[in-house]
Amino acid sequence: MLNDKVKDVLEGAKGALEKVTEKALLAAVPSGLYIGGEWVAGEQGGDLKVYNPANGEVLKSIADASPADGIRALDAAVAAADSWAATAPRVRAEILRKAFDLMQERKEEFALLMTLEMGKPLAEARGEVAYGGEFLRWFSEEAVRISGRYGTNPEGTGRMIVSQHPVGPCFLITPWNFPLAMATRKIGPALAAGCTVVVKPAALTPLTTLYFAKLLEDAGLPAGVVNVVTTSTSGAVSDPIIADPRLRKISFTGSTPVGVSLMKKAADNVLRTSMELGGNAPFVVFEDADLDKAVEGALLAKFRNIGEACTAANRFIVHESVAEEFAAKVTEKVKAFKVGPGVEDGVTIGALIDDRAVAKANSLVQDAVSRGATVRTGGNAIEGEGTFYEPTVVSDVRPGSDILREEIFGPVLAIVTFKDEDDAVRIANDTEYGLMSYVFTQDLARGQRMIERLETGMMGLNVGVVSNAAAPFGGIKQSGLGREGGFEGIHEYLSTKYTMTPNPFA
Ligand code: NAP
Repeated sequence: MLNDKVKDVLEGAKGALEKVTEKALLAAVPSGLYIGGEWVAGEQGGDLKVYNPANGEVLKSIADASPADGIRALDAAVAAADSWAATAPRVRAEILRKAFDLMQERKEEFALLMTLEMGKPLAEARGEVAYGGEFLRWFSEEAVRISGRYGTNPEGTGRMIVSQHPVGPCFLITPWNFPLAMATRKIGPALAAGCTVVVKPAALTPLTTLYFAKLLEDAGLPAGVVNVVTTSTSGAVSDPIIADPRLRKISFTGSTPVGVSLMKKAADNVLRTSMELGGNAPFVVFEDADLDKAVEGALLAKFRNIGEACTAANRFIVHESVAEEFAAKVTEKVKAFKVGPGVEDGVTIGALIDDRAVAKANSLVQDAVSRGATVRTGGNAIEGEGTFYEPTVVSDVRPGSDILREEIFGPVLAIVTFKDEDDAVRIANDTEYGLMSYVFTQDLARGQRMIERLETGMMGLNVGVVSNAAAPFGGIKQSGLGREGGFEGIHEYLSTKYTMTPNPFA
């Protein structure tokens, strides 16, 4: 019984969408900014329209924050900072745990909401609710384990105390591709550590964050601890917040160019920064791999979230002796995918986020083909309602093709070949990114060598999905700084203080 429940939580609930109707759900999502525990209109009026990428229809109009609204939100976070930092860790933990429980009760609502505003299939949205919710449970457990140390200095003349303290008000910026998990992965540890926050979700998918703020309110979170600003002018609203000397930290998930510009702005006030940026994950299949398992892993690593994941396998680097068999097997599976609106039963590939995403996937495929690649299946945008792209496999991709350098962020699987291990490592590391890599081999020593040789913050060794709230998620090189989740995650929101005291016996 318990096992069933755990399985249910970890995999996301299956079954019909009982009770939740689209209309009632959208009506239940707040349309205001959430500042100081109040749902308020934006100072300049106006509204931000949120669209359904599966049909182009407006889902809801919500408040469009101005720069002054952003500062009001920071005012509220600053006002609540001392009392939240002084709140007992157990109380902070209980609120996060309550939020986790409420998320289980509302999992169908969150899943439907994400499918509507982002386009992912409902089954995957349920998986994201399970994954995103876990950060609330994990950090509810971590909140009470913040610790320090006390010891004698080597000279014996004093006592050294090392203690951990909340960094203070934080600004959290999240992307559109995982609207819930990217929010809980930041808000969970921030709250557990005793920090107050201003959250700015992406303009394309703000409804999930607003609905989550409502959940936090229902879980008993005090006013001002979490504040949410939704806006169509992210730069204009963010800049004054980042420039404000009361802000202590910025945590960003999104593209590398925007992350770099935010780091430059953060430098003016020497802000703590956590950056979860872009990726260009290699997926290396050695000649000794179990090919069926590699194909299974490839489908997950590539097509989960319609390929719109920073951890998505971007380059399939396959040994020349098994490349043809791998391509044939993977193509057969991809041909069986069902494309359509994420709310429909059995859909595996939903709508891409917008026209630009479709155009980008298409231009990367066209460039690869113009340089000699072969399209095995797909390769076209789908005409008609919504922003859909055919699930695609291209093989024989030539060095120098754009698809090997840029994040595809769409349902396109691109295959290149290699001759030996050194060659595979060279190709895999030939990118400025360093977030994620996948390796399939049955040779243990080779797998261990890959752990040491591939320049990424995370690796899937014979698996196609690695994300877990208990693990430190993050990249190296231009994929970012800092880690989210795991024991490491809370330390992004804590600062270390060292205190010297005299030897009490002297
Ligand atoms: P993005 O364009 O960089 O946007 C990310 C967030 O930054 C959004 O909230 C966006 O708001 C905001 N933003 C954009 N310009 C800004 C500015 N000048 N000042 C302040 N905020 C600004 O990225 P995206 O297209 O949404 O997301 C896809 C990218 O995220 C990919 O590169 C992907 O790899 C990366 N990603 C990384 C991770 C990770 O953990 N490493 C996880 C998920 C996604 P608006 O959209 O409203 O302007």
